[in-house]
Amino acid sequence: MAIRKIRISGDPILTKKTKKVEEFRERLAQLLDDMQETMKENNGIGIAGPQVGVLRSVVVILNDDCICELVNPEIVESSGEQEITEGCLSFPGQYGITRRPMKVKILAQDRNGKEFTLEAEKLAAAAICHEIDHLSGILFKSRVIKMIDKN
Ligand code: ZN
Repeated sequence: MAIRKIRISGDPILTKKTKKVEEFRERLAQLLDDMQETMKENNGIGIAGPQVGVLRSVVVILNDDCICELVNPEIVESSGEQEITEGCLSFPGQYGITRRPMKVKILAQDRNGKEFTLEAEKLAAAAICHEIDHLSGILFKSRVIKMIDKN
């Protein structure tokens, strides 16, 4: 496992669209391991491929206390609404209030290519939406209603 460099706001890779993962091999496992480690090292609750410079549809999130790996994730259902304070590993020290669904249901694949569904709510639902946005090159600032000053 290795900690990868996080791409910071202004890096053009962050606004590019990712491609689907087609090969479920050692390289993907290595990427997911590294993303987990990089997320933990930076105290994040989610991280997406472009943030470590990889234009593939992969996300790692902290859901309650377990770490979920989402390969090629798609939101298949969402309901409710919440206003939540968000930050992003690619925007250190910046936070804003966004409006996200309260609950989401995701269809994704695991590191071996097996499909599964995952339901999440509250913070985890917002984190999943935030990370899935990254896969389309959408950054949280474009979802922010109001930036906040945390100092
Ligand atoms: Zn982010």
